[in-house]
Amino acid sequence: MKTNRRSFFAKSLLALGTTIVVQPAKALPLFNINTKTNKKLKLTYKPYTLELQHTFTVATMSRTTTPAVLTEIEYDGVVGYGEASMPPYLGESQESVMAFLKRIDLSKYDNPFDLETILADIDLLAFHNTSAKASIDIALHDLVGKLMGQPWYNIWGFDKNKAPITTFTIGIDKADVVREKTKEAAGFKILKVKLGKENDKEMIETIRSVTDVPLTADPNQGWKDKFYALDMIHWLKDKGVQYIEQPMAKEKYDDHAWLTERSPLPILADESCQRLNDISKIKGAYNGIVIKLMKCTGMREAHKMLTLAKAYNMKVLIGCMTETSCAISAASHLSPMCDWADLDGMLLIKNDLFRGTTVVDGKLTLSDLPGIGVKKV
Ligand code: MG
Repeated sequence: MKTNRRSFFAKSLLALGTTIVVQPAKALPLFNINTKTNKKLKLTYKPYTLELQHTFTVATMSRTTTPAVLTEIEYDGVVGYGEASMPPYLGESQESVMAFLKRIDLSKYDNPFDLETILADIDLLAFHNTSAKASIDIALHDLVGKLMGQPWYNIWGFDKNKAPITTFTIGIDKADVVREKTKEAAGFKILKVKLGKENDKEMIETIRSVTDVPLTADPNQGWKDKFYALDMIHWLKDKGVQYIEQPMAKEKYDDHAWLTERSPLPILADESCQRLNDISKIKGAYNGIVIKLMKCTGMREAHKMLTLAKAYNMKVLIGCMTETSCAISAASHLSPMCDWADLDGMLLIKNDLFRGTTVVDGKLTLSDLPGIGVKKV
């Protein structure tokens, strides 16, 4: 055991680029190394526009691009990558993210391993700004993993081989487009169908004319009435749907509780469960939650949400926005402990800048690289 620890310390020192020679007889305090140096954390960032493969339509809106901001945190020559992705309905923009990032002074921290202090300080800088906060959180996790020479699934103690299959999302569209998109998604073992407009049954029937793989459904708050929702869920169950995300408006706690009590399928809170402290508020009204790094401020809080939801015996779906492989790979490190995954965001864009977690035969496949497991392409 001691030998393993020493070899781990030695590896970590190598990763730090330090020339200290490890003496076998002494246990070196790994996490004190950085506090004795004058090395500083340095943040840089730039705007980036994600170009979507197809026009993406959900119950509330339609779009062809997603604004993003890419971050880098450098420490002693090692660089961690992060990303903020801002679907317009969440209220953040490239301008708001960069204005938030401009307020952050990482130079006052000299120990990157002190994630809890750094990220808690940043969270207190301003209310909301969750994707801006996630862009720092992800870059810092990537940096720390690289300094330790370990991917985050190892640091958290998760078995990457237990990463689930991922859904691939079919947005709301005309029947011929839906048919084409479904054919293109032939390699996926499960499809997520956006619902919540007037053509819900047509969407499902069209997909069923192409494939019989299991489906999931996401009305994005689009169903107005709990009786209609319950009827639809029974119909969807017969069509091979496995679970339902956010059927009605996020404020409708009592209606969701009524629906969850009667639904033959699990009901998951997405829009109504943004952050850790939402879980205890919505517990009882839903069977599970949807965790997304962009709405919960990143990997640190997502890990806490996963732990709390499991303590409440709730199901967990790890989801995403349209994102590059940077943020998708970061989220994928939690996936081995999640019930389901919806991490297809990097497959929905044309201009990915990273390579990391991929989808092989429908299953999330995490790289062996340290940190969040990505490299630039
Ligand atoms: Mg959703």
